[in-house]
Amino acid sequence: MALIVKKFGGTSVGNPERIRNVAARIQRTREAGHHVVAVVSAMSGVTDGLIKLAREVNSNPNEREMDVLLATGEQTTIALTAMALQALGQKAVSLTGAQAGIVTDGVHTKAKIANITPKRVHELLAAGHVVIVAGFQGANSEGAITTLGRGGSDLTAIALAAALKADLCEIYTDVDGVYTADPRIVKGARKLDEISYDEMLELASLGAKVMQSRSVEFAKKFKVPFSVRSSMNDNPGTLVKEETRKMEDVVIRGISVDKNQAKINIPKVPDRPGIAARLFKALAAVHLNVDMIVQNASTEGFTDISFTVGKDDLAKARHVIEPIAKEMGAGAVADYQKIAKLSLVGIGMRSHSGVAADLFEALAENQVNIQMISTSEIKISVIIDAADADRAMNAAHAKFGLGIS
Ligand code: ASP
Ligand code: MG
Repeated sequence: MALIVKKFGGTSVGNPERIRNVAARIQRTREAGHHVVAVVSAMSGVTDGLIKLAREVNSNPNEREMDVLLATGEQTTIALTAMALQALGQKAVSLTGAQAGIVTDGVHTKAKIANITPKRVHELLAAGHVVIVAGFQGANSEGAITTLGRGGSDLTAIALAAALKADLCEIYTDVDGVYTADPRIVKGARKLDEISYDEMLELASLGAKVMQSRSVEFAKKFKVPFSVRSSMNDNPGTLVKEETRKMEDVVIRGISVDKNQAKINIPKVPDRPGIAARLFKALAAVHLNVDMIVQNASTEGFTDISFTVGKDDLAKARHVIEPIAKEMGAGAVADYQKIAKLSLVGIGMRSHSGVAADLFEALAENQVNIQMISTSEIKISVIIDAADADRAMNAAHAKFGLGIS
């Protein structure tokens, strides 16, 4: 008899029929003799709807009240899921985050889990119940409801699996798992059987938006293996786990494309110490996340600096950079929004050479111009024209033979 944590995302519980399907799936596991703790998200669209409602009564809603409001989304789903299980004759009890013993810090709307004391969960399991826990929420030490940041139900599931020492954690979503590339763009994209935490982190944060990155980091830290799989079928999904020696044999695990970045260019910046520090300190001071940075070779004491930020941060970044650029006597700041960041990810890159060269060759053969390049131990990223993104992804996928197992 195993203890299995199953997490169902918003689409998986998006309507009554799907909630009944989820209940039937849970019951099958229960009937196979296992204990089940199910973590559920709000029904799809509900959290967004609540945020919209809040803004209609107050343009700048208080964060404590926001948490009280947003937590109702998941509270609706736990009750409905418990009812659906009971309709099948299965004993089930719903618990809010606080009732499940999830204690967080006091940072409303993006709280961190401080500790979990799942006493009540253990008792209910021992009495033969399926326990349905509201994702995305907890309570601070004073008992105020807190939420864990958008997509936080993933974190609830992983953290509960760790606290309960579960045998298995399954993240059910609307895709079959993690693919070598976006299957909507690359015909031969292949579903991966397994992937390491680090590769998953790179792919997830790069736009293969399967899961909240924070929860993958948590899983890595506490060594919680989990699978990502579809709630619409019985396919096994992708297992995300600690890396093994054998995993390094695969040079490239996957390719992702992020179209949510914008590039800012500052031409004719004086080339002397302290200039880059000044620019990027100012961006850091307003908590702006800068991704890629490129500085050109200097000509006659001047250089060009380009960097990328999230599209949502573009206006804010320009606002910070423009007065400084002016003061430095640099040229007019320009931005480019029609760019894409293509990244190759694989822990095998650590021990293989020539990956960058092969990528550049694949892009050249397909007339894709590279605007910026950055590399890390397990990743190579290039900024290219957004219009070239799909072609580039297909070219790289073919070049590295990712479709062949
Ligand atoms: N309902 C929350 C959201 O939409 C949490 C979650 O779905 O994981 O962000
Ligand atoms: Mg979600």
